[in-house]
Amino acid sequence: MKQFSTFLNAIEYHKSCVLCDSKMDINDRDLATDIGYEFRENKQKVSFFVFSNRDDTVTIDPETNEVEFSLKNIAGGIFYHGLTIDCKSCCQFSYVIQVRIDLSKRILLGTSLNSETLSIEDSEMVHEIKNIYATKKTEYTYFPKDGSSKRATFPLVSLNLINPKETIGRLRKLLIFS
Ligand SMILES: [Zn+2]
Repeated sequence: MKQFSTFLNAIEYHKSCVLCDSKMDINDRDLATDIGYEFRENKQKVSFFVFSNRDDTVTIDPETNEVEFSLKNIAGGIFYHGLTIDCKSCCQFSYVIQVRIDLSKRILLGTSLNSETLSIEDSEMVHEIKNIYATKKTEYTYFPKDGSSKRATFPLVSLNLINPKETIGRLRKLLIFS
């Protein structure tokens, strides 16, 4: 699993969408935006709730990797949080980074690439490829025009982000032999 050297490297892993070139952003549902921090424009910090508890928040400054804690209910343990970074323009490309935080020592342990998801439509169907680096699996789901859907899981298949259709070609071949 890819480990990022800094939190900023993780959220800027893909600055723009590989399909439509629009700017990628952290999905609000994974952030505690209502306490006033977001990573965009002039607000430069990322906050999220710990174990979905709204009294407990962690705030990371991506520029310095510094973490601020506001914990009312939690004394310790390791907290894992997934942040989805997606393209709001075409909605066909996203990735998830996993943030690991030691709540006892109050430090950021690390940030890694959990998964990448790409969806591509051709004349026959919509293809969704999800590479889950945490489990080293590729989930390939396809949706023919008749409204059905089928899913196959393979050992990790490398994603060709320059030519995504080439990845689909390889998956279709794997499907024949599976
Ligand atoms: Zn896009």
